[in-house]
Amino acid sequence: MQRENLTSLLKHACRNVPYYRTVLKESGVIDRQEQVQLEHFSRIPLLDKNVMRTQFEQLQSADIHTRMWYENTSGGSTGEPVRFLQDKEYFFWNEAIKIVNDEWTDRSLVDRQIRLWGSARDLFAGKESAKTQLGRWLRNELWLYSLRMTAEQMTNYVNQINQYKPMQILAYAESIYELARFIEREKMPVYSPTAIMTSAGTLYPRMREVIERVFQTRCFNCYGSREVGDVACECNQHKGLHVSSATHYVEILRPDGTATEPGELGELVITVLFNYSMPFIRYRIGDVGSWSEHTCSCRRGLPLLKEVAGRVTDMFLDKQGVQIDGSMFNLLLDDKPFVKKYQVIQEEYEKIRILIVPVDQNRNPFTYHKEELDDVTKKIQMVMGETCQVTFELMEEILPASSGKYRYTISKVSR
Ligand SMILES: [Zn+2]
Repeated sequence: MQRENLTSLLKHACRNVPYYRTVLKESGVIDRQEQVQLEHFSRIPLLDKNVMRTQFEQLQSADIHTRMWYENTSGGSTGEPVRFLQDKEYFFWNEAIKIVNDEWTDRSLVDRQIRLWGSARDLFAGKESAKTQLGRWLRNELWLYSLRMTAEQMTNYVNQINQYKPMQILAYAESIYELARFIEREKMPVYSPTAIMTSAGTLYPRMREVIERVFQTRCFNCYGSREVGDVACECNQHKGLHVSSATHYVEILRPDGTATEPGELGELVITVLFNYSMPFIRYRIGDVGSWSEHTCSCRRGLPLLKEVAGRVTDMFLDKQGVQIDGSMFNLLLDDKPFVKKYQVIQEEYEKIRILIVPVDQNRNPFTYHKEELDDVTKKIQMVMGETCQVTFELMEEILPASSGKYRYTISKVSR
C-alpha cells in the first residue's frame, strides 16, 4: 500500500509540480517513459525550509484549485516560520491517524479528553468561536492552555482534571511535565486518567518517570509536527513509536545521506503520502531519531522508531565536530529541586549560557546552591573541554518558542 501511494504521489508531483518535475527527472526517479523507478528514490534531493521559502510557488501543484487547500505555517522554533499548503485529503488522513492512535491508548471517539496545549493559540483562550466551542463539547474535549502557567493556574487545572475525570490527557510533553512537578511539590491529589498522550517536544525518560509516577498511569509518546502531521505513536507495549506507514514514508539518514543502522541516531527525513497540493517529498524536518533494534510484541508490524531524540539543533557540537546529545544537560539539571525550569544555550563552541528559573524567586541559587552549580560547570567542562566558559543567568520565566515546543537545549553553533 505504501509503495502504491508513494508511486502515485511521485507521478502526481512530476505531472503537476514544477519543482518536482525537474528534480524527479534529474534524479532518474521518473524515467523517459514517465515510469516511476522507486529504486532511485534516495537520489531525490532533500527538501528543507530554505527550499520551501525560495521555491514556494514552484512547489505548488498546478491542479490546486480542485483540492480545497489551506495555508499553514510551521512554528518558528528555529528562526523564521515557514509557509506551506495542505489540502482536505491530507487533513482527513491526519484526523484518521489521530483516531487510530487514540485507540491504542484505549480511548474511543467519545471518551473524555483533556488537552493541555501550549501554543500561540493560548492567546485565544476564552475567545474561541461558538462553532469551535460546540465542536469541543460534542467531542468531549476540554482544552487547558499551557504557554505560561502560573501557580494559581496550575492549581485551577488540577481541580479541572479532578472534576472532569478525563479518560485521556493529551499534552505538550513539557507542559504535563511541568504540571506533574507542580502537583508533586504541592502534594496535591490528582485524578489518574487511563492514559497520557504526549506530543510536541521531546519526552525524555526522566520526564516520563515523573509524569507516570504523579498521575499513576502510562505515557504514550507521539511524534509529529505542523508540516507533516502525526508521524508515529507508541502502542500499549511502550517499546518505541510505530510509524504510520499508510500515510508517511520515513527515512533516517547519516550526514553523508546513507541510511542509518537500527539504534544509530540520524536525521529524520519524511515523505507525506497524501498532500498533493504541495507535496513534501524527503522533507528534512530537523529532528534526530533512530530505528529500534527490536520488533514490537503487539504484532502491528509497523516500522518501529526507538526514539526521537530532539531537534538537530538540540545537539551540541564540540570543537572537534563531535555531536553531544543535549539530554546530558537534562541529567545534570533535572534533579536539582531548586530549579523550576532551565534552558542551556551553546552560543559558541566553548561558550555555554544556562538560564534558570528558580522554584523560589527569593532564594537566589547563586548564593544558596553555589556548590551544586559549580558542580554542573565542572561536569560540563569535562565533556565540552576544560576551557569551556559556563555562565548562569537568573530568569523569572522562560517561554517556549512560538510553536509552543519548549526547548531545553539550543545550539547556535553553525554546522
Ligand atoms: Zn507495538
